[in-house]
Amino acid sequence: MKIQNTALGLMRTPLRIPFKTALRTVTELEEITLQIVDSEGMVGWGSVVPTPAITGDTEETIRSDLAFLLGHLRRQSVDDVWNWSNNLPAGKNVSRSALCAVDVALHDLCARRAGQPLWKWLGGETNRPLSTNMTISVDAPEVMAKRALEAVQAGFSALKIKVGLDAELDRQRVVAVRKTVGEKVTFRLDANQGWSEDEARALIPWFAEKCGPIDFIEQPVKADQIESLARLVQISPVPLVADESAMSFEQAALVIEKKAAHALSVKLIKAGGLGRARAILDLAAQHNVPCLMSCMFEVGAGFQAAAHLAAIHPAVRWVDLDSMEFLSRVPYSGGVVFNGSELRCGQEPGLGLALPLNGF
Ligand SMILES: [Mg+2]
Repeated sequence: MKIQNTALGLMRTPLRIPFKTALRTVTELEEITLQIVDSEGMVGWGSVVPTPAITGDTEETIRSDLAFLLGHLRRQSVDDVWNWSNNLPAGKNVSRSALCAVDVALHDLCARRAGQPLWKWLGGETNRPLSTNMTISVDAPEVMAKRALEAVQAGFSALKIKVGLDAELDRQRVVAVRKTVGEKVTFRLDANQGWSEDEARALIPWFAEKCGPIDFIEQPVKADQIESLARLVQISPVPLVADESAMSFEQAALVIEKKAAHALSVKLIKAGGLGRARAILDLAAQHNVPCLMSCMFEVGAGFQAAAHLAAIHPAVRWVDLDSMEFLSRVPYSGGVVFNGSELRCGQEPGLGLALPLNGF
């Protein structure tokens, strides 16, 4: 297919409730949107939310990389969509955030050209519905308990609880939530690198014993402490998930090789797009390592593409695609259908959505 035209935009949405982790607080969601148009007028959509606290890619870097990538693609033919980024000029380093946005748009375009929903174009036979957890931002214990109760009343049976700001307070946070929601709800704890190895060594068994049922505990220690993670894997009664330690395909492979986690958190922006995220899932499947399909704090094309991939890939055991729950309104048209904690990808070609292009 020949790329004829490209355009960039911005999608801004105020939040209904703030999103807080050990690393940052967000009150308005701002995603860069992009459109790629082929020579027959067919359109593909991509998007990216700059998340420098996690990826290191700033908005300025991403904008500059997107301008470069789209300039490179314009009036070019893309014959192999899985490997298009291998043909960039030698020596040019491009952020994975920007690669992801363009990669998703190209895949959306390919699936639309084939007249198939993306999940089917990716090789899926059935479109399984996804059940996502709801994230409870890190806050005072009573605030978290209240948010958790609201989520359970809205139909969520798994809660992703953000901890990692203070080890002692973390115990009070999780206990308060457990007391409030009862024992039918499953917890997923995410420390976002906030504990030392000693703290994690004390907290992980304590949470497993006192606050279960717990599906997993995510990224207890700093991203580069692979040896420390591997030691924690040996003592943990619940699965440990590597998130910030497994950003790229290479890092995910290292975590698997070193047995530094029981499971991986996969995000398209971390990996650098659909192709690379699928490669991580394929590798995980080969090693019987289950995966959590997650996303940055985003709802655009990247988020939707993650849902399409999760709907068909056997390595995906858990789903953490709940960003929409924080928004005050839906900022685009079409796309994944939400029903409480359930997400379902549709039958429309590609991602089946259109994003706003104004304001860039
Ligand atoms: Mg995480």
